[in-house]
Amino acid sequence: MPRWILHVDMDAFYASVEELDHPELRGKPVIVAGPEPRGVVATASYAARQFGVRSGMPTTQAKRLCPHGIFLPPRFDRYEEMAQKIRAILSEYTPLVEPVSLDEAFLDLSGSELLYGPPERIAEEIHMRIPKETNLSCSVGVGPNKLVAKLASDAAKPGGLKIVYPEEVQSFLDQLPVEKLWGVGPKTAARLEEKGVRTVYDLRQVPLGLLRSWFGPKGGEALWQLARGLDETPVVPVRESKSLSHEVTYAQDIFAKEKVEAELRRLALLVVDRLRAERLLAQTVQIKVRFADFTTCTRQTKLPEPTDQAMIVAAEAVGLLSRVQIPPGQGVRLLGVGVADLVPATFRPLPLFLDPKLGDVLCEVRQKFGTDALRLGNSSSK
Ligand SMILES: [Mg+2]
Repeated sequence: MPRWILHVDMDAFYASVEELDHPELRGKPVIVAGPEPRGVVATASYAARQFGVRSGMPTTQAKRLCPHGIFLPPRFDRYEEMAQKIRAILSEYTPLVEPVSLDEAFLDLSGSELLYGPPERIAEEIHMRIPKETNLSCSVGVGPNKLVAKLASDAAKPGGLKIVYPEEVQSFLDQLPVEKLWGVGPKTAARLEEKGVRTVYDLRQVPLGLLRSWFGPKGGEALWQLARGLDETPVVPVRESKSLSHEVTYAQDIFAKEKVEAELRRLALLVVDRLRAERLLAQTVQIKVRFADFTTCTRQTKLPEPTDQAMIVAAEAVGLLSRVQIPPGQGVRLLGVGVADLVPATFRPLPLFLDPKLGDVLCEVRQKFGTDALRLGNSSSK
């Protein structure tokens, strides 16, 4: 049975929400960005893009390119509110909705046909309803898999709808530059360029054996599949978890402050592992401290931006400890670290503090070698 995957992508989402809430900004170069010196652009309106402003670009650079731009700090709560409205519309058509970020989602429509009619009609309806019910513009792509659906919505931007039927996949892909394929980053693209491979068509001419010798067995195989529009990745609906936490009750009370801090760091890593496994970002960090006499303290702090960075969560958890009054002579019986106000990840809008790659590496090592393989400074053994 052929699969029908739909990809919805809101156009310049954060900037569009700001324009919706402040109509006087409509059509102006609105740039939602983290503060200087380390902030980056989360979303630029189409008017701002004309000046060359792009998401991911340092705010400082965006200000140089577009000195008259209207720079606004992100308001994630408001974007999340709109994202929920959009998700509610989407989930009317199938329970198989996978939010990729606040402004993007995949739907698996295979099987929705009997209830809602052919996928084309569902796509048209979604494409019409979102702007009507939210006053925000969206692009919709439909294809036989996620890869093609996402490329289709990209081709439909802004505000369009594109359906790529199975028999059109190859001609649709062939004309695209290789870096449009997911997983083909600037480095891979540069290596392919060296070999004279620029478009997907070029890539399709390269034999599998050669691709393997260039990029290793796994990388070569992946590129070979991508070039043919083959992608079996399932649409995985994310359950909405409101919070995640890890708690430990200790056999012996802990007295040393350094030991408590080390434990908080260790628990923070465990929480972040789960956060990442569920592809979520946290906006709040919480700790729980219970003393030998069973008095219990909880403290929490709101982060300046959503994160899944172990170092940030650990630092916040340890920082919160300073707001807990430790009764003299009392040992710690239980510790907990939690994260809350969770939003879908993948799109990491504002890596203000740390290179997000560092967190990825930490996570990968720990996945491969177990959670004890790599710890943050000072989170010594139990
Ligand atoms: Mg978008």
